[in-house]
Amino acid sequence: MSVKRAIVVGAGFAGATAARLLAEKGYEVAVLERRSAAGGGSNETLRPNGIVAQRYGPHIFHTKNEAVFRFLSRFCVWRPHEHRVLGSVRGALVPIPFNFRSIELLFPPAESEALKSALRRYYPADARAPVLALMTHESAMVKKLGEFVMEYVFLRYTAKQWGIPPNQVDRSVLDRVPVVMGYRDTYFDDPIQMMPWEGFNALFANMLRHPGIRLELALAERDGIRLDAEKGRVLWRGAPFDGPVIYTGNVDALLDCRFGRLPYRAVRFEFEDLPLDSYQPAAVVNYPNDWEFTRITEFKKITGQQAAGATCVLREYPTDSDRHEPCYPVENPANRALYDRYTREMRRYPNIVLCGRLAEYRYYNMDQAVASAMDKVAAID
Ligand SMILES: Cc1cc2nc3c(=O)[nH]c(=O)nc-3n(C[C@H](O)[C@H](O)[C@H](O)COP(=O)(O)OP(=O)(O)OC[C@H]3O[C@@H](n4cnc5c(N)ncnc54)[C@H](O)[C@@H]3O)c2cc1C
Repeated sequence: MSVKRAIVVGAGFAGATAARLLAEKGYEVAVLERRSAAGGGSNETLRPNGIVAQRYGPHIFHTKNEAVFRFLSRFCVWRPHEHRVLGSVRGALVPIPFNFRSIELLFPPAESEALKSALRRYYPADARAPVLALMTHESAMVKKLGEFVMEYVFLRYTAKQWGIPPNQVDRSVLDRVPVVMGYRDTYFDDPIQMMPWEGFNALFANMLRHPGIRLELALAERDGIRLDAEKGRVLWRGAPFDGPVIYTGNVDALLDCRFGRLPYRAVRFEFEDLPLDSYQPAAVVNYPNDWEFTRITEFKKITGQQAAGATCVLREYPTDSDRHEPCYPVENPANRALYDRYTREMRRYPNIVLCGRLAEYRYYNMDQAVASAMDKVAAID
C-alpha cells in the first residue's frame, strides 16, 4: 500500500489540529513552521525571572463547542479559569464588561441606585444587553448610561485599538459589546473557560507527538512550499506534491502579495519583569482613556503560576507597522473582496486547503481555529 502524505504549513491551533487528525487518518504529515516553536499565538516563553509569559498576548481558552473541548482534552489536563478584566475609567478600576459594581464605582450613590433600579425594571438579572440597545432605549436613564459606557469604555478603546478618531469608529462593530445587569464579573460568558494546567506549550507537544507527524521548526523560506502557476501544482523541495496541503499562513504571502497586502492591525508587545508578588488586582486591566497602550496583562493571574517576589506584565501598543505581529484582520468590504480575489486564485491549486485565522482572514478565537481544522480534515479521505 502506498504511503499517504500530507503537508501542514504552520503549527498554531489550526495547523496542529489538522496535523494530528490527518496523522490519525493514516497520513504521514510534515508540519512546516517558520518560528522556532509550535503554538502560534498561544506560545509561551520563560522570562529571566522564571515567570511563564504568553509571547503574543494573553490567551484564555473559552468555548461553547463541546467537540473542540473534547478533542483538546485528549492533550492536556485543564484548570478552570474564569477570566476577569478591569478598566481604568475616570481614575477608578471598574469591572469590564460594565456591570452594577462598575456603576457603583463611577456614579454617586443616589444616581447609582437610580441607574440600577432602572436597569432592573427592563432586564432580567445577569442578562447581557448590547450597549447599542441601551443607547436607543426608551428610558432616558438607561439611555444616558449606555452613552456613558460607549464613550468612556468602548469607543475610546476601540479607537485606540484601530488607530482612528473615536468619531470614525463604526458603531455597528460595537454591537456585541455587553453591559451586565448584575454583579457577574466574568469576561467571557462561554460555558467552558479553562487553561491547560501545564500550559499551551505542553498541550502542543502532546498534540504533535504522533509517529505520523514530523515537525520542522525554524523553517527557512526556501524550504517552504512553492506554487507552480503554470501547472497549478504545489512544489515542495523541488518536486511536485499532490497530497493534501493544509495552509495556515497568510494567503496573500503565498501568492507573493500580487493583488496587494491584506491589511492587519498589529501589536507591539512590551514585557516588564518586576520583583513583586502582584502588580495589579486583575489578570488584565484595560486602558481605554489614557496612555498609548490598550491593556496591561499580568500573566501569573492567567497561568496560575505561584511565584513569590516575581511577576511579569505585558503592555500592548496597537500599530499598523508590519514590523510587528499581524493580530487583527481589518474586516471591511474592500478587504473581504481582496481576500476573495486571493481565494479565487487559490482554486488553481485544488490540493491546498486554507485554514485558520491568517489563511481565512478572520478573527478566530482558538476554539474556532480548532473547529475550522476539524471541519476541513473531515472532508479529506
Ligand atoms: C493579542 C491576541 C490575544 C488573543 N487572545 C485570545 C484568547 O484569549 N482566547 C482565544 O481563544 N483566542 C485568542 N486570540 C486568538 C488566537 O490567537 C487565534 O485564535 C489562534 O492563534 C489561531 O490559530 P491559528 O493556527 O489559526 O493561527 P496562529 O496561531 O497565528 O498560527 C499560525 C502559525 O503558522 C505559522 N506560519 C505562518 N505562515 C507560515 C509559513 N509561510 N510557513 C511556515 N509557518 C508559517 C506562524 O508562525 C504560526 O505559528 C488572541 C489573538 C490575539 C492577537
